[in-house]
Amino acid sequence: MFDTLRKVFGFHEFRPNQERVVRAILDKRDVLAIMPTGGGKSLCYQLPAVMMEGTCMVISPLIALMKDQVDGARANGIRAAFLNSSQNPDERDEVLQRLLSGKLDLLYLAPERFILSHFREILGQVQLSMAVIDEAHCISEWGHDFRPDYLSLSDLVTLFAGIPVAAFTATATTRVQQDILDKLALRNPLIVRASFDRPNLLYDVRFKDNVEAQLLSLLKSNPGKAGIIYRTSRKSVSDTATMLQKKGIRALPYHAGLSDAERKGNQEAFIRDEAEVIVATIAFGMGIDKSNIRFVIHADLPKSIENYYQETGRAGRDGEPAQCTLLFAQGDIPKVRFFIDSIIDETERERALGALSKVITFASTSVCRRRTLLDYFGESYPHDNCNSCDICLGSREVVDATLEAQMLLSAIVRTEERFGAGHIVDIVTGSQNKKIIDFGHDRLKTWGVGKAHDKKYWRQLIDELLAQQVIQKAEGLYPTLFLLPKASRILKREEQLNIVRILEKKKEQPPAK
Ligand code: ADP
Ligand code: ZN
Repeated sequence: MFDTLRKVFGFHEFRPNQERVVRAILDKRDVLAIMPTGGGKSLCYQLPAVMMEGTCMVISPLIALMKDQVDGARANGIRAAFLNSSQNPDERDEVLQRLLSGKLDLLYLAPERFILSHFREILGQVQLSMAVIDEAHCISEWGHDFRPDYLSLSDLVTLFAGIPVAAFTATATTRVQQDILDKLALRNPLIVRASFDRPNLLYDVRFKDNVEAQLLSLLKSNPGKAGIIYRTSRKSVSDTATMLQKKGIRALPYHAGLSDAERKGNQEAFIRDEAEVIVATIAFGMGIDKSNIRFVIHADLPKSIENYYQETGRAGRDGEPAQCTLLFAQGDIPKVRFFIDSIIDETERERALGALSKVITFASTSVCRRRTLLDYFGESYPHDNCNSCDICLGSREVVDATLEAQMLLSAIVRTEERFGAGHIVDIVTGSQNKKIIDFGHDRLKTWGVGKAHDKKYWRQLIDELLAQQVIQKAEGLYPTLFLLPKASRILKREEQLNIVRILEKKKEQPPAK
């Protein structure tokens, strides 16, 4: 085993967990290995594939990456090939011939090929050493990337009873993990979970008030560096990319509305460092093997913690420092909720809501971001201070904002809970705009009481009141604000409203060399 590691792969030692996985497979035991991106999953099956008799079949949804993987394996002298829809019949026949004559150590397959019954017959005539299921979370509807084709893998262990099955994934909440085990019916598998901590990533959540200006300033602090900006809608992707281009930044859009050729071209320009920034919907990134991504910015709310972890996880795969910034505003929540409300399937809708509320908690509480992420994956973070997130790097100050909260609350009460955040802020800051005058709100006792602070301050305080469930926003067309029970306790000073303010950052993480 060590001999093969050195001679075939040129490595002198295993990375954490690799040895256990390799040994289990060599013992013909099933495996479920959950390792973060960059953890070295390929070696875990390529090494036994070289050592064992027969062909190792690797089922992977990432057609675009198969060629690279095969080229990489061949460069190490491994007899590898792939079969997928990108090939013409002659190319496929050639691979099948090599497979049938026992001249392949590794065969990469797309799951849709595995469904075909004639293909299964062919596999029946071949000596297989093992079956590998890459991106195994695709079999779970609880995961972030469910692929119905993967369900066909559930009879793998009965069809090929004599060979071990090894499933790999970089995502797995305990629920997805259990689902993978159940759906694949793995037999007394070795389960390996590597730590999900990515120590070189700095997590930073910022109050989103002016996206364009904030993006530009973030890009300015990472000049010429490669990065991804995630946005929710295709339109905002295009708009943001255009805006950045106008500012002289080599940014390209990526979303499902572009033609295949355009998407592919933009992706490749990014991979080859011809474009520094890619602005993308979540359609971008799975299987992107670009190691020098220095920053990932979420300009809108991610769909779930799992998505957030995956998307930020694309940064810093080379182990060098990288920055992950989430721009967060309570005002974004209704947009996402509106979208979720349109989901017809009830379980699906509730799942989406639950996922959203976890993201909101992640972004709006002042707990170490790293700890919150790892908690989500059932891993406890052993340190008090990670020294690499906005919470741990900032010194915090608890401020009593009861008086200011009372100003907002009484403006809401005096206008009979019939107005939205913008108007309430206009009242306390003493605006004389048309709406204020028309409603006679300049005659309210609370008009202008909060002039000491600017609008941004009041906006943030409203967000804080929403997050602390002092007030709530009405659903539907008019997002008017109304009071929750806690509000009357604050108004009567029976309860205090504290806000945690993150003071000046100690120091930004130094840019990578
Ligand atoms: P994953 O599929 O888990 O994202 P890869 O299999 O692509 O990760 O491996 C990530 C990188 O780590 C690759 O460049 C690979 O060559 C390297 N690598 C894997 N195992 C070792 C090892 N034991 N020693 C040194 N480098 C390794
Ligand atoms: Zn932290």
